Amino acid sequence: MWSQRAEEIVSRLIAGLPPAQLDPARTHSARLRALHIGGSMWADYYLRPNGAVVVVGEEYDQPDVGTVHTDRSNVLMALVWGARRYPELLELIPTRPTDAVDCFCRTSPIFAEGKLLCSECGALGWLPAEGTR
Ligand SMILES: [Zn+2]
Repeated sequence: MWSQRAEEIVSRLIAGLPPAQLDPARTHSARLRALHIGGSMWADYYLRPNGAVVVVGEEYDQPDVGTVHTDRSNVLMALVWGARRYPELLELIPTRPTDAVDCFCRTSPIFAEGKLLCSECGALGWLPAEGTR
């Protein structure tokens, strides 16, 4: 699902980051050469130009260790979440095919508020039709 265009957009966003965002004391962006997407209770989420998601501090007792995720769900979540901060990412979120099905999260109040991202659908709110997954 990652494209040349996607790589260009993420690279450009990283290149355009203000110095504070690249300060090693504040984020891991410079070290990882990745875009800071956001933070949870203790982990920080980054997106690399090649479409890999790096989660720093995923393990509570290893705050500086980065874990790389490249599966569809994690990449989609990074895009949906990141687009709130970097609207340029919006165009990388796949459009819903006509035969897609609603994800269960659409009926769940916890997910509806947008505070929690659904890992089943990658926060899209829909899943590809059975057979095309
Ligand atoms: Zn969902």
